[in-house]
Parts: sequence; structure tokens; C-alpha cells
Amino acid sequence: MQIVDRNSFDKLIDVLQARGFEVIGPIVRDGAVVYDRLQSASDLPIGWTDRQAPGAYRLIKQDHAAVFGYAVGPHSWKKFLLPPTHRLWRSRRSGQGFEITAAAEKTPRYAFIGVRACELQAIAVQDKVLLGGPFTEPTYKSRREAAFIVAVNCNEPGGNCFCVSMKTGPKVAGPFDLALTEVLQGNEHYFVVEAGSEKGRAVMADIPHRAAGTRQAEICEKLAAQAAAKMGRTLDTTHIKELLYRNLEHPRWDDVARRCLSCTNCTLVCPTCFCTTVEDATDLSGEHAERRRRWDSCFTMDFSYIHGGYIRPSVKARYRQWMTHKLASWIDQFGTSGCVGCGRCITWCPVGIDITAEAKAIRADEMSANPGQYISEFPTG
Ligand code: SF4
Ligand code: SF4
Repeated sequence: MQIVDRNSFDKLIDVLQARGFEVIGPIVRDGAVVYDRLQSASDLPIGWTDRQAPGAYRLIKQDHAAVFGYAVGPHSWKKFLLPPTHRLWRSRRSGQGFEITAAAEKTPRYAFIGVRACELQAIAVQDKVLLGGPFTEPTYKSRREAAFIVAVNCNEPGGNCFCVSMKTGPKVAGPFDLALTEVLQGNEHYFVVEAGSEKGRAVMADIPHRAAGTRQAEICEKLAAQAAAKMGRTLDTTHIKELLYRNLEHPRWDDVARRCLSCTNCTLVCPTCFCTTVEDATDLSGEHAERRRRWDSCFTMDFSYIHGGYIRPSVKARYRQWMTHKLASWIDQFGTSGCVGCGRCITWCPVGIDITAEAKAIRADEMSANPGQYISEFPTG
């Protein structure tokens, strides 16, 4: 491990830019921390933190200058790896037919700065979905392979975070190129840096640094433990797949359907949701057409339209599909939970629906209905 002093930290962005990366990181825009292109370190959300609750997000200026003193905002890195809209091909009328031109993309070389532990796990989940099967998604693959990842350990989890429950944080567990822990104590402000790849070590060689000692290692462990103790939420994941499969007709689905607006926000902010649709468009002359892929959501009616009808016509069916996919059938499909505990779906739900509260309500109801049976028949761990 090495130490990079705060006044040398800005060099990280310069070094990555000099190596040809488009540096993407957190900035403050429209009252939120979002991810966008960084020109320099002064673009970072220095001194900002956030307060998050179900359906609520506020930025607050602090009286100190922490660079990464906020929790995750509405954006996730999937915006860059699996873009919200993407042209697949173009066509042009030619004689009696059409000429089709596949969209050729010059792969952007992104350097992501500020990737949290839960977000690293979300990228790993999308890797399984988009690269782990017999068919791989080529845009995602090339962008993913070209990316440089600077992860950051969380010191200030948000009010809706539950990464400890999902075993995805708050300490990053790789793979990353560099991982930072920001230390701001008294007059000391520095970053403890761990290189996780050859690329990371090469970048560190260009940034002024000094060796970290046992004191810094102990400080990092203490900060991680403090962050783990400050989780805004918890989710009991014990046999959660079986719990949800046993309760597909639970009245709680009717209850949540009365609150859910089916607005799609939860899926769009979720860093693991990957569903897309394709749309064709022509110009008015009929000479040109193109096919675009764009993010879609299981909360729309059209998403489940199969010739002749919708297989999930009610909000109840759509919410149940989403939550049971995240926490149960995802495990059957991909061998991992589809939820990394980032809390975005709770914060950005306009009516504050909380996936942890919904799961908790079903579990509590089952436990109270089967007080004697629960331990033996439905073991909790
Ligand atoms: S389901 Fe919600 S808490 Fe889980 S990863 Fe998606 S947005 Fe985050
Ligand atoms: S749970 Fe909330 S964010 Fe998701 S579709 Fe329903 S109202 Fe929208």
C-alpha cells in the first residue's frame, strides 16, 4: 500500500488523461452527485455529502473537504458500459432493396474514478449476465475490457445502503486497478492506495507517493469497520430465495401494488438491471432507417407483451417479478443475487418503496403465522 497526499491526488486525473483515458467520475449537477466526464480534480464533489431516505435525496455541504464523502447517487457505471441508447445498424435504400451498415464504434477508453464496493459487485454481476453465457454483448465487452477502475472504500454509507447484508461492501474486494481509502483526520488528508493490477502499478509510478505503514493499514481497517456499522438498512438474506418462492401469492404484493406507480425508476437506477429493447425508425423520405437499442424496464406493460397479450398486466405482477428476480430467480439464473445493496431503488422511488421493507414484511408475516414451525421447516440459518 502507498500514500498519495491530497495535494498530489489531482495528478491521478492528469496521468490517466495523458494515457488516453476519458476520465469519468462524480460531479455535482442538478442537486445530485452524478457520473460524468472530469476535466480536472476540481470537478469532484469536494466537501459534499448526501442524506438519503426512501424517496428522498439531499446534498449537504460539509465543513471539511472530503473528496469522496458522499454515497452513491442516481447514476451507475452501467450508463457507460451498457449505454442507455445505442445504434445497432443503419440502412439506406439501394435499388429494390436496402444496404445495411453495422454500427462501428471506436471503443471509448474510460477510467472510472470513485467506484464503490457495491458498484464493483454490480459490474461483476453484469459481467456474468452479458459476458458469462454462450452469447456475449460486444459493446459491453469492448468497453469493459478497456476500462480502468479506481475504486474507493466507503467512509460515509447512505441512509438506504445495505451492502453489509448483501456481502458486497463497504470495503472493495476487487477486481480493480487502484483502490483508495480517503483519510481526513485533523490536519492530515491523504489517500491510502492499493494497486490491484499491472496497469494500476504503472499509473502509480507516475504519481508522487510514499510507502504506507501499519498505522495507515490500521486506520483503513477502522474506517471500514465504522462504515460497516453505519449501514442505513439491513436485509435478512437467509433462504430469501425459498422465502419469496413460497410467497408468490402473499397479500403484501397487493399492498405494494397499491403504492407502486410502475414508473420504472427503480430499474433504471439499479446498477444490475440489464433489460433492453430495440426500436426501428425511418426518416420521412423512407430512404434511411436505423435500429437502436435502449434500456427497458420490466415495469412497463409493453415489456411483457408476447403476441396477443401481456403476461404481466398488473402492477402487482410487475413488482413481484422485479423483486423476486432480484432476490431469488437471479440466483437460479446467474448464481448470484441480482441486488448489491446500493439502495438506489429505495432513494429514487418517488413513493419511497423499500425492497428491504417489502422482504422484511413477508418474512415477518410468515414467521408469525408459523411460530413453532418456522425454525424447523423454514430454517433461518
Ligand atoms: S435492487 Fe435496489 S438496492 Fe439492489 S442493486 Fe438494484 S437499485 Fe441497488
Ligand atoms: S417501486 Fe417505485 S420506482 Fe419502482 S416502479 Fe414502483 S413506484 Fe416506480
